[in-house]
Amino acid sequence: MPSWKCSKCGYTLEAQTPPEVCPACKLRCEFIDNSCYTPDCVDKGIDPRIGSK
Ligand SMILES: [Zn+2]
Repeated sequence: MPSWKCSKCGYTLEAQTPPEVCPACKLRCEFIDNSCYTPDCVDKGIDPRIGSK
């Protein structure tokens, strides 16, 4: 199951596709793929846009 993270509040959830409206923000947030497999973040296993927090 892919993991998604809200780019605004950091809310994460697991779903096949990100929701249109963030359950936490109640806004149409951009959801970032939290289970990142691209070469840029394969070492850390996290999308660099999210950061290392
Ligand atoms: Zn949010």
